[in-house]
Amino acid sequence: MDIKLTRNENPAPLTPEDALGFGRVFSDHMLLWDWSAERGWHDLRIVPFAPLTLHPASTVLHYGAEIFEGLKAYRREDGGVQLFRPIENIRRLNRSAERMCLPELDENELLEALLAFVRLEERWVPKSFGTSLYLRPFLFGNDEQLGVHAVHNATFVLIASPSGSYYKEGINPVGIMIESEDVRAVRGGTGYAKCGGNYAASTRAGERAAKAGYSQVLWLDGVERKYIEEVGAMNVMFRIGDEIVTPALTGSILPGITRKSCIEVLRAEGYTVNERLLSVDELIAALESGELKEAWGCGTAAVVSPIGRFAYGDRVYTVSDGGIGEVTKQLYDTLTGIQWGKLPDPDGWVLKL
Ligand SMILES: *Cc1c(COP(=O)(O)O)cnc(C)c1O
Repeated sequence: MDIKLTRNENPAPLTPEDALGFGRVFSDHMLLWDWSAERGWHDLRIVPFAPLTLHPASTVLHYGAEIFEGLKAYRREDGGVQLFRPIENIRRLNRSAERMCLPELDENELLEALLAFVRLEERWVPKSFGTSLYLRPFLFGNDEQLGVHAVHNATFVLIASPSGSYYKEGINPVGIMIESEDVRAVRGGTGYAKCGGNYAASTRAGERAAKAGYSQVLWLDGVERKYIEEVGAMNVMFRIGDEIVTPALTGSILPGITRKSCIEVLRAEGYTVNERLLSVDELIAALESGELKEAWGCGTAAVVSPIGRFAYGDRVYTVSDGGIGEVTKQLYDTLTGIQWGKLPDPDGWVLKL
């Protein structure tokens, strides 16, 4: 596999690690790969990071044919760099592509391209624990005409952004607002695909929650408005009595890699984890009875994010004592330990560069 490299002749100075936020600084290069129905995937190349040029009729601008992924490159204490379960991101990208009628990529070729790109941008992987080089692969339809149909042209792009620690000020439990008006996704729709449109549709509820002083919304299913699905752009888990519960993947929920990893870690440690339907009524009853011991969101950005309280209608419920629960803390320590190479990796999740 040939990757044509055009080096950036003006590499940028690195941003100090304590000044890194999320997604504002970008590395020196980007990877591009074109696809057309006639030629398939072609012109795989790495070029200096720069704005893209799009035809004003480009499919993505009108009909939202766009999918993406998010993963991180982590710096170990020995100075080496590693990825966490990247093949899972690649497979999910292909499942999203299938849903959106975008072309799929060869798993091995994409992994090879991803590794080559991260090796080239290695100096951009920050060093302190909690920081990382966030990798954002994305793929969009790029026909230069307004007809609505499966695209004949698409573009794959990979960019990288050094990111600060999500928990700069320490891990603090967040407040969540249960959303009963807007829905994020419905079964048969695009909920299980990581597509830009899902985010566009969920912004309004997120803004309303932010105005009311909450950091995310808890989404309910779109049909019965009854079953819990996700929290903001994270999956969600609960410890109710001795059971760990997370909503089953019914099609409208994004199958998170952090979710999957949490389930595997917890089961290996002997916890009972059930993927099942969980109604908002059951959640409220568990909050009222004190059976709800812990609740947390999980996703690549935060790893786990403890939930301290839920607002539902005009009532606010506190989870246990409103602090960080023991299972939440244990998951955080285990997953970040594996990701940053401080703990053994018994299941071979880590891919060293
Ligand atoms: C990306 C994403 C997640 C988390 O997935 P991870 O693979 O764990 O990062 C959860 N929900 C939504 C809606 C997402 O877009």
